[in-house]
Amino acid sequence: MPQLATLKRAARPQRVVKERRAKSARLLHERNCSVGRTVAILSDSWAFLVLRESYFGATRFETFQLALGIPRQTLTQRLRVLTAQGLLRRVQYSERPKRSEYRLTTMGLDLYPVMMALLSFGDKWLCRSKKPPIQLVHNLCGSVCHPIVACSHCKEEVTARSVKYRDGPGAGVTPVLAGKRYRRSSDPAVLDRGRPSMVAATLKIIGDRWTFMVITEAFFGIRQFDQWQQKLGIAPNILTDRLNRLVADGIFERRKYQDLPERFEYRFTEMGKDLYGALIAMLRWGDRWLSRDEPPTILTHYGCSADFQATVICDKCRQPLHAKDMSYGLNYRPKEDGRARKPGRPAAIEAR
Ligand SMILES: [Zn+2]
Ligand SMILES: [Zn+2]
Repeated sequence: MPQLATLKRAARPQRVVKERRAKSARLLHERNCSVGRTVAILSDSWAFLVLRESYFGATRFETFQLALGIPRQTLTQRLRVLTAQGLLRRVQYSERPKRSEYRLTTMGLDLYPVMMALLSFGDKWLCRSKKPPIQLVHNLCGSVCHPIVACSHCKEEVTARSVKYRDGPGAGVTPVLAGKRYRRSSDPAVLDRGRPSMVAATLKIIGDRWTFMVITEAFFGIRQFDQWQQKLGIAPNILTDRLNRLVADGIFERRKYQDLPERFEYRFTEMGKDLYGALIAMLRWGDRWLSRDEPPTILTHYGCSADFQATVICDKCRQPLHAKDMSYGLNYRPKEDGRARKPGRPAAIEAR
């Protein structure tokens, strides 16, 4: 049988081969998008967990390991990757024996608001009438706070309806390495490690890279199967799978828009619309750190008519949220063995 297959391939007309090549060349470009670049970092479950523990004050290998029950080799590898990406910085703290710790860089700390936006979504939609596991206290104003995503210009909360888009200086497409696109994100079950977390719960739904790209395009107005396929060059079976999941998770609803032939489109539910804040928080971070300040997309706020960036603020005092200004109340009991211990503040904060 394999021989037959080889023969068939050899006999394929030149035109077909050329068309296929052209098609695969098209597939290997994707639209420049700061959200996609940010998600590429966050969609690795282990890397995300390591970062989360850093925001809670972990800096040393043993602390990460104890909190997450992560295999040593995996931890070593993720710390190396996060350092190479510029989110953590390795600092030697003891000469003999030679020991290093990992501190958040400015770039790493700047991702904190994205975590807060994801947390806010999870608290609102995924707690199923239970109390959110973590209560945030904003030390600047002393209040229990809820993060909101606001316009950097007027400090009002922004929603998908109150924003319009245009291409920025970084717009265009970037070639993507073959193979890389289709790699599955790491096992979502890993996200349950360590402590109950609504950020992790949110990432479980949306943290897969394709899922994210589908959601992002939906915020740019895409609703139909063919449109996603065309924009993203996504394989039909993968797109079907992601759309079905997003419907099952309550992000999209499927609506018939034509009878003959029967055709459906996908629209955001109220819950889905609420992902917008997290999305533009990622957009801002990606623009700043991964697009060399040449944003592919520029946002304008209808409310104040200004171009703006997403800023994550305290709902009580309207000041931007930073990791160093937060403390945490736990609505769950930490385990005795030190896992899921009470979070502290990032101990060592240093610029890169
Ligand atoms: Zn505004
Ligand atoms: Zn506050």
